[in-house]
Amino acid sequence: MRRLAALALAAAALHPALGAAPIRTLIFSGQNNHGWRTTTPYLENLLTASGRFEVRVEEEPAGVTAATLAHYDLIVVDYQGPRWGDATERAVADFVASGKGLVAVHGSSYAFSGLDILGPGHVRTGRTEPPWLAWAAMLGGTWAGDPPRSFHAPRHLFTVKFTDPSHPIAQGMGSGFQTLDELYHGMHFLPSAHPIATAYDDPSIGGTGADEPVLLTVNYGKGRVFYTALGHEVPAMQEAGFAITFVRGAEWAASGNVTLPPVVPASRAAHPLRVEVVTGGHPFDPEFYELFVGRPDLEVTVTGHPDAYTRDLRTETDVLVLYDLVSEIGDQKRDNLRAFLEAGRGLVVLHHAIADFGSWPWWSEQVVGGKYLLQPEGGRPASTYKHDEDILVRAVGTHAITRGLAPLHLRDETYHGMWISPRVNVILETSNPSSDGPVAWIGPYDKSRVVYIQLGHGRLAQQNPDYQELVHRAVLWAAGRLE
Ligand SMILES: [Zn+2]
Ligand SMILES: [Zn+2]
Repeated sequence: MRRLAALALAAAALHPALGAAPIRTLIFSGQNNHGWRTTTPYLENLLTASGRFEVRVEEEPAGVTAATLAHYDLIVVDYQGPRWGDATERAVADFVASGKGLVAVHGSSYAFSGLDILGPGHVRTGRTEPPWLAWAAMLGGTWAGDPPRSFHAPRHLFTVKFTDPSHPIAQGMGSGFQTLDELYHGMHFLPSAHPIATAYDDPSIGGTGADEPVLLTVNYGKGRVFYTALGHEVPAMQEAGFAITFVRGAEWAASGNVTLPPVVPASRAAHPLRVEVVTGGHPFDPEFYELFVGRPDLEVTVTGHPDAYTRDLRTETDVLVLYDLVSEIGDQKRDNLRAFLEAGRGLVVLHHAIADFGSWPWWSEQVVGGKYLLQPEGGRPASTYKHDEDILVRAVGTHAITRGLAPLHLRDETYHGMWISPRVNVILETSNPSSDGPVAWIGPYDKSRVVYIQLGHGRLAQQNPDYQELVHRAVLWAAGRLE
C-alpha cells in the first residue's frame, strides 16, 4: 500500500486546534484542464473534515472583489484558465501581501504563465494571455515554455522527501512519503521559493534526473503561500501524503503555524467501504476515476501493476475492483487473491479485466464465470470486440443491483465470442447483435460476492450517471451492503 498506514490509522479526532476560530477559506475553482468538478469538492471535504476550516467555493473568481475577500483568512486555488482581470488580481495579491494565506494546487501553477490556456483533458486552446507576474511571485515559480520546458513524466509512484523536515507542515511525518501522481519538472522557481519537499524525477520514464521541488512555501509581503505540485486528480489527492500536507499547508498559510496532526482528516462517512481499484495493462480514459468520486460511502485506493496483489489483501480491503488486464500473475499473487475471496470479500470485475489471468482456470471458471479469449483456445476462436456500439441494456430477472435502475442506453464497446459459464446469473443483457447478449452477471463463486460488468470501455460510459450508479451498486452489493 502506498498510504502512510500508521498515520492514516491514527485517530483523527484529537487536535489541539479544537476551539480555535475556524479558518475562513474560499476555494477558487470553476475552470481547469484537470477535473475540478471532482477535485474541488474533495479538497473542500478534506479541509472541512479536519475541523479547522470553514469553506466556501467560488466558481467564478473573475469579479471577486477586495470587499468579498475581507471576510476570509485563506484562498485555495484549484483553477487553471483565463486571467481574472485587474481588480480581482490586485485584490488577491493585496489579500496575501496584507498577511493572509494562499494555497495553490497542482496545475494552478500553470495558470497565468503566459502559456496556452489548456482546456479539459489538457487540450490546447491556442489562447494565450500575458503572464500575471504577481501570481508567479506569490507561488515562487511558474511553468515555462522555453527549453527545458516544464512538464511531467506519466503518472507513477515516487517518493517525496522532506528537504526541510523541521518545517511545521512536515513535522511528525518522518523523512517523507510515497505517492502515485504526476511529478512536475522543469518549473522555473524564484529565489523566494522555499522547497520543503522534493522528489527524484526518474529519467528512465521521462524524468529529468533531478530532485524536483513538489511542496514549497513562499513569504509574500506579510502573507504566506503554500504551493503543492501534487494532486493531479482525486486518487492522487486521496494519497495520505497529499491529504496531510494539503490541510497542514493550508493551516500554515493562514495562521503561520500548524496544529493539525499528521493524519488524514476523517471522512464524513462513519465507516466507508475500503475499495481497492486495480488498473494497468490496458489504457483507459481518466474519466474512469469519476466512478469513485463524490461517494462518501467509499474510501478508494488505486493500485497499479506490478504492485497489485502483492500483499495480503484481507487486511485493508473490503472490495476489489479490477480494471486491469494482465495475463499472468505468479503464485504469490494468486494466493493473495484466493485468500481474499475465501475470506468472503467482494469482487467487481469491469470490462477488459474479464481477460485477466487467462491461464488460471479456477479464476475464470469458478470465480468470474467467464473469459474473454485473447487467443483461440480449445477449439474456440478468439473473442472479438466492437467499439462505439449503440447499446440498449435491460435487466434480466430481479437483482438487488439492478432493482429500480432505469434501462441503460450507452455508446460503448461490445464483446463477442466470450466463454460464459452456464453457472452465472445474468442480470443485464442487450440484443445488440455485436454482443454475446449478457453484459453483467453474478459469478458462480459461493464464498464471496462476485460481479462482472462488461460495459465500461471509456468515458462515454463512465460519465453516464446510470452506468456510474450501476458500478456503485455493484460495489455495495459485493460488500454485502445492498440486499
Ligand atoms: Zn496534472
Ligand atoms: Zn475496451
